[in-house]
Amino acid sequence: MLTRFAPSPTGELHLGHAYSAVLAHEAARAAEGRFLVRLDDIDGSRSREEYVAASLADLAWLGIAWDGEPARQSARLGDYAAALETLRDRGLVYPCFCTRADIAASLSAPHGPSGAIYPGTCRHLSDAERARRIGAELHCWRLDTARSLAEAGELMWEEVGQGRRVADPLAHGDIVLARKDAPASYHLASTLDDAMMGVTHVIRGADLIASTDVHRLLQALLGLPTPLYRHHALVCGPDGKRLAKRDAAASLASLRACGQDGHALAADLAADRLPAGYSLQNP
Ligand code: GLU
Repeated sequence: MLTRFAPSPTGELHLGHAYSAVLAHEAARAAEGRFLVRLDDIDGSRSREEYVAASLADLAWLGIAWDGEPARQSARLGDYAAALETLRDRGLVYPCFCTRADIAASLSAPHGPSGAIYPGTCRHLSDAERARRIGAELHCWRLDTARSLAEAGELMWEEVGQGRRVADPLAHGDIVLARKDAPASYHLASTLDDAMMGVTHVIRGADLIASTDVHRLLQALLGLPTPLYRHHALVCGPDGKRLAKRDAAASLASLRACGQDGHALAADLAADRLPAGYSLQNP
């Protein structure tokens, strides 16, 4: 068994991150497997080195030891570009020149599990128009999801303890694989990395279960193995809402500053015991 914890260094870790890291770490240790840390640091405008150091310090405070050096997505940009190139050669991605405002203005933009469904405007551009605009305009790359699914066929994954789930990537529309401001989207980078790292069990919050629809399709297209998944309940604050990076009171740094014992907290979280006022909820 190989599990991972993959924080984005864009803010302080909070109790929700701790719960996720503890579950992934415990699962690996119980099976005498390996536990890796990956830093999802390709969002150049929001990732900060100080949060990398703080996140690793938080894990150490919890008594979580990781195997090897933490991996960094920023070191793997060439692999993401190569995967995108493969999909481009197969005609499964297309450049999209739409702005957020263009998409919001489209009356036919219903919402799916990961936000507004892209209305497909740029899917229909001619090769000549693409070639003309690509050198001149900012663009992202989108997956032609329907065409990709037609190639891949029906897709499933195993949700640990719950059985098989059918992946529904069509519900997401044509998702972005490479952004205007970042060389790979979370979906592409995370799917490739989990495969490259040899992750056998992806243990992460239930807020990401819908992403698995997309990750499963990318695995099929790129010939990657499918790990088992466990999407766990989310830690909610005293207001009943799931924690966000702005909830300073639940940050691990502030709990540590209040004199909390990190190892004791990790043991409690492993047994689904949350500090007073916090609870676990399934979305
Ligand atoms: N960096 C992602 C996050 O913090 C990781 C999600 C995942 O575990 O796949 O949300």
